[in-house]
Amino acid sequence: MNTTPKDTVDLRDLTYSELERYVVEDLGERRFRTDQLFSWLHGQAVTDLDLMTNVAKELRQRLGRETRLTTLQTVEVVDSKDGSAKLAFRTADGHLVESVLMPEERKISVCLSTQVGCAMGCAFCATAGLGLTRSLTAGEIVDQLYRIRAWLQDRGDDRRISNIVYMGMGEPLANLRQTRRSLEIIMHPLGANLSSRRITVSTAGVVPGIERMATWDFQVNLAISLNATTQQVRERLMPITRRYSLDRLFTALRAFPLEKRRRITFEYVLIAGVNDSDEDAARLPRLVAGVPCKFNIIPVNPVDGSDFAPPAPDRVEAFCAPIRRAGYTVITRNSRGADISAACGQLAGRLKSPNLTDE
Ligand code: SF4
Repeated sequence: MNTTPKDTVDLRDLTYSELERYVVEDLGERRFRTDQLFSWLHGQAVTDLDLMTNVAKELRQRLGRETRLTTLQTVEVVDSKDGSAKLAFRTADGHLVESVLMPEERKISVCLSTQVGCAMGCAFCATAGLGLTRSLTAGEIVDQLYRIRAWLQDRGDDRRISNIVYMGMGEPLANLRQTRRSLEIIMHPLGANLSSRRITVSTAGVVPGIERMATWDFQVNLAISLNATTQQVRERLMPITRRYSLDRLFTALRAFPLEKRRRITFEYVLIAGVNDSDEDAARLPRLVAGVPCKFNIIPVNPVDGSDFAPPAPDRVEAFCAPIRRAGYTVITRNSRGADISAACGQLAGRLKSPNLTDE
């Protein structure tokens, strides 16, 4: 059992430059130790200091006494018939978070959580019903990726994780500092070394967070969970719109200094009779004018206790056609893993029942 006090340094949680400062200033070690430790922590994603074989034993013992190493515990994996899978993890303090893994031919996309639960209250989302418990640390965010990699490895699955989306439980821009730090860790060449072009942060429209991202010295892809074309309907579906109106959101997006060849993705969860009208489809291109963008249209994944239903396939097509005609790329994607509670929050919500959380 790890008896290290909770306020000691969590090695998994440090960015490269923070680790370097810790190694040199606090431990009094030579700078090259940073490369060694960071590679073990994030390239190899070890869960045990003793596996760091090129790190001197005395240093490992000291780290064992003076630091801790966040590792999530995988508590359940549910495979879907469509090849996607959902993994539920328990944090060191006993909370549940989940990640979704979506295969695409030889590649795999992974959806990571940034918070335990969520405060945003979106009407179509199972996580909203859980409320917000706490935000995740950068170490807990990146460890979801490492646990998924380990799970694939255990199954003898050699497919590469090629894309990461911050779109699981929680609102990444309501946990901006840890989101940014986790991105720095994931993109580091000695870590998972994922290209910024393969990472997407998806937000419900937290405008101050978007404005902060616009000032970062690196850029990842930005996705906006839009889901409505009028202030009124968006307020109904996404209460955050009362604080950050559609007007404010689009002002921030038009000012966003998008790098060349990047486009903002608008996610649009299509709900029969709510946001799928011909008028919505006609308004959408006008609403996004001036923003280089593409669309992901996703028929809603029914959530227990909600009366939202996906439109019929021909209605989905009828909705997409005018947007395509207006010159936009439109990808229609079925909600993945409908048979495994793949809408974010559904699995954690189910596992929260006492019978399942107590092992
Ligand atoms: S859709 Fe995302 S932002 Fe909205 S409640 Fe669910 S997790 Fe939170």
